[in-house]
Amino acid sequence: MKKENFDFYTYNDKRKCRYSKCLAPIADQEHATRQYCPREELPDGSVKNCKDDYWADIKKEANTVYKEMELFHKLMEERLSSLYDLNLPEITIEIIESTGIELPKSLMHFSKDETCFFYFINYVVTYNLIDKRIKISKHEIELF
Ligand SMILES: [Zn+2]
Repeated sequence: MKKENFDFYTYNDKRKCRYSKCLAPIADQEHATRQYCPREELPDGSVKNCKDDYWADIKKEANTVYKEMELFHKLMEERLSSLYDLNLPEITIEIIESTGIELPKSLMHFSKDETCFFYFINYVVTYNLIDKRIKISKHEIELF
């Protein structure tokens, strides 16, 4: 019996294509290292290639995370810049929160003595734990 005849295949090992949008069973007769469906040209001329599609999705997903981070930090910069330009005599934590500035998501933060520092791309927010004073300043530190 030829291998192309599907009746020949058994699926006792219950192996499946690794590509989550496919998950087609992989026959026991396929090579032990096979993790994806074999590349296949479909009647409409398109190509089914689960291995390439799997990695394309992973790459896309990874790029989406970086894109979101970029957009988030651009948004933080805009908000910090607007607040900085207002030159308010006092900035409270309520103002920071209502402006949508997310201090815990700064690029770098640490505390020294009684002051917490939250570094964004161009601004640093300092928060004094004793008198609760908040200050926004520009900084020149290269974070990347
Ligand atoms: Zn597949």
